[in-house]
Formats: sequence, C-alpha cells, structure tokens
Amino acid sequence: MIVLRSRREIEKLKAANRMVAEVLELLKKSVRPGISTAALDKIAEEEIVGRGARPAFKGYAGFPATLCTSINHEIVHGIPSRKRKLKEGDIISIDVGVCLDGYYGDAAITVPVGKISNVARNLLEVTRVSLEKAIARAWPGERLHTLSYSVQEHAEKNGFSVVRDFVGHGIGTELHEPPQIPNYGRPGTGLLLKSGMVLAIEPMINQGSWEVDVLADGWTAVTRDRKLSAHFEHTIAITDDGPEILSTLED
Ligand code: MG
Repeated sequence: MIVLRSRREIEKLKAANRMVAEVLELLKKSVRPGISTAALDKIAEEEIVGRGARPAFKGYAGFPATLCTSINHEIVHGIPSRKRKLKEGDIISIDVGVCLDGYYGDAAITVPVGKISNVARNLLEVTRVSLEKAIARAWPGERLHTLSYSVQEHAEKNGFSVVRDFVGHGIGTELHEPPQIPNYGRPGTGLLLKSGMVLAIEPMINQGSWEVDVLADGWTAVTRDRKLSAHFEHTIAITDDGPEILSTLED
C-alpha cells in the first residue's frame, strides 16, 4: 500500500533528508586521492549519530556500514573498506540513508576524485540531468513510468544504458516502501501519482551495457563489462504545487 503523507509528515521527511544532503556535502569535501572509503564511512556515521539520527543502511538486510561507496565500474551497494583508497581519476557513488525521529532520508551523488576523463564527466552529468528530468515530471495526475522513461530517454540519447536490476522506491516510515521506480518504461503507464507520495528516484546509468554482476561479498553490484557506472538519487515529495525535493540544502 502506498501511504500518502500529510504536510506534517513531509516536514519530518524533509528534516531527515536535509540531514542526508548535509552529510553528502560534507563527504563531497572529504573526497580526495588517498582517503579510504572506510574513512568516509566514519565521517558520515559520526555526523549522523552526532545529530541524533541513525544510519539507515547499517544492519539493513545485514549491510555492514553507514554508506554505500561504489567506485568506477561498481554501480551500487559497495561496502566501505580500509583497504579501498580513492585514486585520482576515480568516480565514486556515495549513497546515504538516515532515520530521524522515525522518518527516513535517502540520497546519493557520484563525485569525481581529482581530474577525471571526459567520458566519466559526461556520464556523471547525463545521470544527474536524467534525475532532474524525472523529478520535473513528478506531478499529481502523471503516471510513474513517465518519470522512468525520462531517465531512460536521456541516458540512451547520450549513448549510455540504464540498469534494470535495481530501482528507486517509495520512502517514509520505512526505508523501502512501494512503489518500485524503474529507470526505464513506457511513458503514460504505471501508477497514477498523487499529492502526498514520497519517492526516492535513483537513476543508475552505465557507460556500456546495462548488465550487472553481484560480487562474492553478496552486495557490490558491478557492470558486467566493467565499464563505468554513475548513480544519483533524490527523495522528493509530490505536492499540489509539483515536485518538492526533500534531500536538498536549499530553502
Ligand atoms: Mg534509495
């Protein structure tokens, strides 16, 4: 069942998601060649706990860390490690979830480590813009797969492919709530969107083919062709006045 959230609940979700945005901002400033993904994880955990919230991913289905850190050909769900140090030219997807006062926040960015290749920069930009395009369609009365298609259209138009195996999701008093939000689909089909729905939209876009492998750790999803992948995510509320991004530093 899809829960429609009241204004009071959306404000609670906004507080959790603003914290996520602030943690991502802090991490963005910490990303540099030589830092380990475990060090980034520690920064995030201390910040979240220090602000009276709880890391939402830690312990979720047994996931061992606060962040998902996914480098280069890793798509999502990479596990932070002391042994994994960032290198000049890498791209890293950082996904953060928190629970504050019973309400969840979830967002992700992919950031460059130092100077990156032109194709990597283009992949980041196309993925970020594909998320913006999906958000722009998140109005009451629209159909869910119209959002999905706007991600797919923008990615494929730019010669990239859309991951099929992982999807965005509703979010609220659980980290993952219905509906599932694929990043591909037929416009004008799918769930009818209503004011009060809160969605975590998260395009995962690959440089090469869309196919995925999961590594032996049981978590890390990588591109089968080992080419690059990027991931951006925002939590948004659908309101009578259109989409409201909750995981932002603005306003
Ligand atoms: Mg998510």
